[in-house]
Amino acid sequence: MRTLFLNPPSYQGFDGGAGARYQAKREIRSYWYPTWLAQPAALVPDSLLVDAPPAGLTLADVVPLARQHDLVVLHTSSPTFRGDVGVAEAMKAQNPALLVGFVGAKVAVEPAGSLLASDAIDFVAREEFDFTIAEVAQGRPLGSIDGISYRDNGKVTHNADRAMVEDMDSLPFVTPVYKRHLRAEDYSIGYLRHPYISLYTGRGCRSRCTFCLWPQTVGGHRYRTRSVGNVVEEVELAQHLFPQVKELFFDDDTFTDDRPRAEAIARGLARLGMTWSCNAKANVPRETLRVLKDNGLRLVVVGYESGNQQILNNVKKGLRVDRARRFAQDCRDLGITVHGTFILGLPGETRETIEETIRYAKDVNPHTIQVSVAAPYPGTEMYQRAKENGWLPDDSDDSALVSAQGTQLPALSYPHLEHTEILNSVDSFYKRFYFRAGKLAEMSAELFRRPDMAARRLREGAEFVRFLGRHARTPAVP
Ligand code: SF4
Repeated sequence: MRTLFLNPPSYQGFDGGAGARYQAKREIRSYWYPTWLAQPAALVPDSLLVDAPPAGLTLADVVPLARQHDLVVLHTSSPTFRGDVGVAEAMKAQNPALLVGFVGAKVAVEPAGSLLASDAIDFVAREEFDFTIAEVAQGRPLGSIDGISYRDNGKVTHNADRAMVEDMDSLPFVTPVYKRHLRAEDYSIGYLRHPYISLYTGRGCRSRCTFCLWPQTVGGHRYRTRSVGNVVEEVELAQHLFPQVKELFFDDDTFTDDRPRAEAIARGLARLGMTWSCNAKANVPRETLRVLKDNGLRLVVVGYESGNQQILNNVKKGLRVDRARRFAQDCRDLGITVHGTFILGLPGETRETIEETIRYAKDVNPHTIQVSVAAPYPGTEMYQRAKENGWLPDDSDDSALVSAQGTQLPALSYPHLEHTEILNSVDSFYKRFYFRAGKLAEMSAELFRRPDMAARRLREGAEFVRFLGRHARTPAVP
């Protein structure tokens, strides 16, 4: 079948790509690669991948594609679902014979509800959908394909579950798909060099953080990995396909979950001279950090989440605050840059713990930070707890995760801590972290060291200040 993989147009600047653990518009222009769509696209010969938000494409741009295809696969998410259904309906109106399928965590956890949202959706692919979609694209009857939920004579039918991919080397490389259909220059992440490229070397995370979307919905809690040789081969290919790329990012949930393997990949990359970065948990031993650093590691993205131990326990982070402090010190000593992520409004949060976390952030002092509000995504344990405990407004639906502009909203609220206070604390957190003499000096020094960064940092700075201004005016819940 002539197949289109579509990350649909959405809120302006909305980031719903694979690395976007929170699908939302960020403080500064920020786009992850649509790796989850690129992977099945690599399995379907001559398919087209369109990532509308980074390419600046609108509904009017993508709807005509309906007439040129037999199958469209839309990647959806809880916050964008309603809008994505609108895109599907517009495409179906253009080509009533078009087979429309939805994929993503939202439909994995609510297959029936998602299907029933619109007659324009013919099927949803649950679980890992790479080979599911490949089989649909081969024209096999929907009833014979594992992992599909579809409408059969008006009745929602769920086929058997799709087995998880165990042989990760059986998945073809995604970088040739990026090369064919995407522009690396359209993708930027504030803390990564530009242009960058990202890919997965494995799926799943061993940790069980109650708020975390992917491992609880699609990826699972076993870290299933590609072989070292397979990863190094793709990095070498990526280097050849994208000579302009300045950095490679391993987007695995926790690349350091298998330390010997992480070290082996690092050693394999050494001869390529590639600068690379990855997601890591703040418990990696110094010796491992040293091996990674000696073999090209530049930056780690680390989920510190909270400076309060009880909150970390509440969300099953599996991390001790004192261990994370030592990790931060090790990174500083070894010259590894850290982008630290924090979450406000997790269960157990109070005004005092917010203060504690801001102090902690200043102590561990990552180079850059991201502060999010706790987002209860359907399919996560935190969502379940929020429902049970009445932390969600009675009339809330999933679209309440983002504002009319696509920025994050504080969906949770507690009797002792209102959502407005959580949201305002995000602004205060950023200001108190960045507007310190030491941090301002550090950021200025970076501009002097890397004059090529100046224009970018000035643009991002202006976007960031605009974000803080707009954020303060945004109503907490629509
Ligand atoms: S360690 Fe990170 S990726 Fe793993 S479950 Fe926790 S938040 Fe998610």
